[in-house]
Amino acid sequence: MRVPSCTVQATPVASGIAIGRVMLIHKKNFGDGNTAISADEVQLELERFHTALEVTKKQLQDLQEKLRRKLRDTEAGIFDAHLLLVEDYTMTNEVERSITEDMVDAESAIIRAVDKFVAAFSAVEDIYLRERAVDIRDVGQRIITNLSEGEEKLDYDEPRVVIASTLTPSETIGMDREKVLGFAVETGSATSHTAILARSLQLPAVVGVPKELLDSLTVADKIIVDGFSGKIIINPDAATEEAYRLKSKEAEKIYRQLRGESDLRAVTTDGFTIEIAANVEVQEDYSAIRKNGAGGIGLFRTEFIFMDESNLPDEDEQFEIYKKLMISAGNDPVTIRTMDIGGDKLNCGIVRSEEQNPFLGLRGIRLCLRERADLFKTQLRALMRAGVHGNMQIMLPMVSCMEELLEARKIIGELKNELTSQGVPFNDAIPLGVMIETPAAALTADRFALEADFFSIGSNDLIQYTIAADRSNERVAHLYQPGHPAILRLIRFTVEEALKQNIPVAVCGQIAEDLSMIPFLVGLGVNELSMSPGSMPLVKKLIRSLSMHECGELAEKAMLCNNSTDVMQLSRQMIARCAPELLDL
Ligand code: PEP
Ligand code: MG
Repeated sequence: MRVPSCTVQATPVASGIAIGRVMLIHKKNFGDGNTAISADEVQLELERFHTALEVTKKQLQDLQEKLRRKLRDTEAGIFDAHLLLVEDYTMTNEVERSITEDMVDAESAIIRAVDKFVAAFSAVEDIYLRERAVDIRDVGQRIITNLSEGEEKLDYDEPRVVIASTLTPSETIGMDREKVLGFAVETGSATSHTAILARSLQLPAVVGVPKELLDSLTVADKIIVDGFSGKIIINPDAATEEAYRLKSKEAEKIYRQLRGESDLRAVTTDGFTIEIAANVEVQEDYSAIRKNGAGGIGLFRTEFIFMDESNLPDEDEQFEIYKKLMISAGNDPVTIRTMDIGGDKLNCGIVRSEEQNPFLGLRGIRLCLRERADLFKTQLRALMRAGVHGNMQIMLPMVSCMEELLEARKIIGELKNELTSQGVPFNDAIPLGVMIETPAAALTADRFALEADFFSIGSNDLIQYTIAADRSNERVAHLYQPGHPAILRLIRFTVEEALKQNIPVAVCGQIAEDLSMIPFLVGLGVNELSMSPGSMPLVKKLIRSLSMHECGELAEKAMLCNNSTDVMQLSRQMIARCAPELLDL
């Protein structure tokens, strides 16, 4: 049975509207065997079943092969029985019959067929045959799991909305963009890397989708994901769908208008300029980013080039990637962050030790200086070589103490000698900056400002580490407050100390594109805001409506607020006065 038409509130993490049928990834609950389908869905369910059957067969053969290499043939023979079941026409025919005649989805048809055969086997006297019932359940379970996990492999005739309990950054980045309209995910938050990637791919996304809803959806259901309000509408009626198509068109029109003004600089009404730069995760075309209004790249998250286990780039391949980016950016500044592996970016091709608490573990610069100095050096060599092709800056993530910056500088010095003695051309004057994303770094910004060439505030992590609220855990999302006065105070101190040493300070976390945080960042004197390219026209428009002087006063008021709610209220009032048309975007 299809889920009845309903609306559910989730949390918006990437703007836009997606309308389409569901693509299920990692579905955990397989239903009760009674999920009805309509006549026009029979073919799709048959295809799903056969794809899953093929995947299962291949898995079993691989397992058998692995076991054969490790154990004796008798143990590997366990899977002979399973393979026989997968290839058994009686079983396959029964599932096909159930899909076509009972008109139920593939999961239900398998559950029914398994129950039927298990009942028959359990009734016989022969112990050997009775034990085969366990094999039948095992195989049935495996095929059902592959039904949902194989969803990505299914060649749908139309792009779909991805529904998942969790999605890792590497899964998100590995998805075929042409086949995906948007995301609705149970776990995560606006600053989890999956959401960051959704914005980077410019796909609407929501998180915090109730588990019961995920469990009840099938590929036959249609869904609307409203990445502006966070609403999801299941099996909408025609009028609702039409209204959302209209809303989507209107939003697109406003964005188009704003993109038309993207050449205009972000200058406040009283004449202060804020540089606007782009965050880059996947290797994109810089000319498109520039058209959206970027004056450079403020953060290239290089760890994403290491997500494909089977294809880790070596020094020369990395050199080509960075060189291409530098050349396409021309004279515009490009800030490249060295790999920030760890935290929620674990599922990548880089080998590292397991940890209980990865967000507080060997993440970013820590991994690079300890366990994987080899990779760090390779990356730095590639960057220094590519640095001759443009205006590059190198930035270190997850810095918490001065030794880390000094050690990285020392390694860069040694690599310079190495490259010189090898006669390899490189840029020996690339500025080296630190991300301010731990409270330790923020509170010693006065010391760091003496050694670093620039700062970039990584608010996503600065908030999680200051408030002790995991950025990707929706259960503490209510505590993860960008407007917490503690965060504003840390930013103020960081900017003040940077100004004293005359080094620039950028913000490259999510708050750089959060309209309600921008008046404070402008007021505190941040020089640059770096964000996902889709948000740049909007942010520029807002800045052009604000006065630096008034923002400064607002920021000072915010420092004295008791809580984030009061802080946010202040900025909403200012936006309502200066740029009311942007309030609902
Ligand atoms: C941040 O922490 O704000 C940041 C920009 O880095 P990332 O989101 O990749 O951790
Ligand atoms: Mg970070």
